Amino acid sequence: MASSVLSPFKPVQVASAPKPQKEARLRTLYARLGELKQTRNAVILAHLYERLDVQNIADHVGDSLGLSRQAAQTSADVILFCGVHFMAETAKLLSPDKKVFLGNANAGCPMADMITRQQLIAFKAQHPGVPVVAYVNTSAEVKAESDVCCTSANATGVVRALCQQHGVDRVLFVPDKNLGNYVQSQCPDIELINWDGFCPTHMRMHLEDVEALKKQYPQAMILAHPECNDDIKAVADVIGSTTVIRQTAMASDKRVFIVCTEDGVRARLAQDCPDKLFFTPTQACAVCPNMKLTRLENMIATLEHLPEADEIVIPDAIAEPARQTLALMMAIDS
Ligand code: SF4
Repeated sequence: MASSVLSPFKPVQVASAPKPQKEARLRTLYARLGELKQTRNAVILAHLYERLDVQNIADHVGDSLGLSRQAAQTSADVILFCGVHFMAETAKLLSPDKKVFLGNANAGCPMADMITRQQLIAFKAQHPGVPVVAYVNTSAEVKAESDVCCTSANATGVVRALCQQHGVDRVLFVPDKNLGNYVQSQCPDIELINWDGFCPTHMRMHLEDVEALKKQYPQAMILAHPECNDDIKAVADVIGSTTVIRQTAMASDKRVFIVCTEDGVRARLAQDCPDKLFFTPTQACAVCPNMKLTRLENMIATLEHLPEADEIVIPDAIAEPARQTLALMMAIDS
């Protein structure tokens, strides 16, 4: 049973068994979603940061780009993306003929909002001729002004490849300075000029909390997302994307893990590996409120009505260049 959600030291079983009425309610909601999936020919995608009840009904669970790639391969007419706005936009860029909706239309990403197209244009004007690498956590408009996209998994390789292509040793990197700093540490021969953006959820995690957990569980493996502060990454055993963190923890012989990323990953691991212990550095701080906005009722309402106003639409003038940045990234990645 869950102990205090504020304690960094005790395992919190978010996935604990629901009470009978909760189970009945869940069954009803899942049944309705199942019907709607059929009638709408929809595929449900859920990011690993989503609530567990949302992840558990999804057709695919993973990181944003992996999900968008999978969606593009399905014959579904409708994509219901349980994540935040830039993820649904990415899905739309890769599946222009499908109708794309967010599980909750209000779910945005504060990090993606930290740079606008106009701000990027001004940033480029300050550094003429320097190519731009945009983290996938950006709007389609910002992608359209960039040279290439990257994910937390491939950022280092993309930066290197772009520098080779352009014959340069400097890039503008937007918007996440923490990911940029991590890439910089891997590429000392390249200068990254970082935008001053960050993920508020990862920034709320503190080294002292990680160290306190490590003191209590000296054998624990520390897994950190590159969006974490640099001091946390410096003590991490593995730095990687949500997918890398999940795969590492599942494959490891270790029994205790300090998971320095959004709490959904810890919750999912706790569900999938009940014989292991997973902690986030203070669970309350590791929750992204935007990722927790989507509830089963929102998903049902969206699939019932397919509200025109909430459909993800990207004008061609933005979609074409934005899609090219994704295509170049995928070409580099392949
Ligand atoms: S966890 Fe961070 S990067 Fe992800 S949606 Fe929330 S604010 Fe944005």
